[in-house]
Amino acid sequence: MITIIKSKELKEKPADESKLGFGRIFTDHMFTLKYEQGKGWHDPTIQPYSKIEMDPSTSILHYGQTIFEGLKAYRVKDGRILLFRPRDNFLRLNRSADRMCIPNVDVDLALEGLFELLKVEKDWVPSSKGTSLYIRPTIIATEPYLGVHVSTSYLFYMILSPVGAYYSTGLKPVSIYVEDQYVRAAKGGTGEAKTAGNYAASLIGSKKAEQLGCSQVLWLDAAERKYVEEVGAMNIFFVIDGVIVTPALSGSILPGITRDSVIKYARFKGLEVQECAISIDEVEEAYEKGKLDEAFGTGTAAVISPVGVLKYKDKTMVINNGEMGKISAMMYDGLTGIQNAELPDPFGWVIELK
Ligand SMILES: *Cc1c(COP(=O)(O)O)cnc(C)c1O
Repeated sequence: MITIIKSKELKEKPADESKLGFGRIFTDHMFTLKYEQGKGWHDPTIQPYSKIEMDPSTSILHYGQTIFEGLKAYRVKDGRILLFRPRDNFLRLNRSADRMCIPNVDVDLALEGLFELLKVEKDWVPSSKGTSLYIRPTIIATEPYLGVHVSTSYLFYMILSPVGAYYSTGLKPVSIYVEDQYVRAAKGGTGEAKTAGNYAASLIGSKKAEQLGCSQVLWLDAAERKYVEEVGAMNIFFVIDGVIVTPALSGSILPGITRDSVIKYARFKGLEVQECAISIDEVEEAYEKGKLDEAFGTGTAAVISPVGVLKYKDKTMVINNGEMGKISAMMYDGLTGIQNAELPDPFGWVIELK
């Protein structure tokens, strides 16, 4: 059912896996699926990676009706290629689609398309430690029309990019700036959806963070600038007095699959995890009392990203001497161990490409 058109010319694969970086190299093929009103999703195709031609009036270019996903394929020691919870990514794609008035895709067809694409591109999956093949499923509104309305046509595509360790510094803790002026997302808005506008809205915070010597932004809630929400493309966890705490999904936080995996893995390991509203004042108070043991971000790109410094207003909080903490390390080793089949997977998260 999926048409496969092979590329006549193959690209040279990157020779040095230690220099892959993130998101600049793409493989030879991509998966595409089209939607037209009345016809539904049609023509699943694997075709040569190529430019997308569109009319300058195409609605995605003006009003941003678009959603995306991010997941990874890993090559493990015995040569097998594994995926981590891929169905959850397509289920979330459809939840984002609902919010953005984009028609749902058939999750089984999307998974089949991904598996077939990966089979064609399997030689692109890098094998050194920390590397993977990053997968970017995307849907864009393609109707050429300047009216603000729900598009009548869409393109769903998946592209693949071999990537190195997300942070060039490895697992070195990051410095995070707590933004108390701008907001990323409000309840009732689009914060729960993986949609382009959220990231465009966050760039100004990243710029401020950079000026302050920080690499990421921690966003607070839109109504009061009081409750901790999440980091630009990661969810946030704190370890306060031995208990793991993370903001509850409030309606403006992206429900991360890594977040969910950390919660389940930590509980499986017998650790206490609380999902609740956490104010930045509570974090500061815990810090003052010496009870802010650790902080870390979670996301597909970096898996676990320890936080060494939090800057909030005039205050600089140095967490765990700026070093990765015990629980952060345990979560990193646990999740990457499961992803790379070095640890048993009691959750059924890992899917093998066959
Ligand atoms: C993708 C994303 C995350 C992390 O989600 P994962 O499924 O763990 O990769 C967190 N926050 C935002 C805003 C994101 O876009």
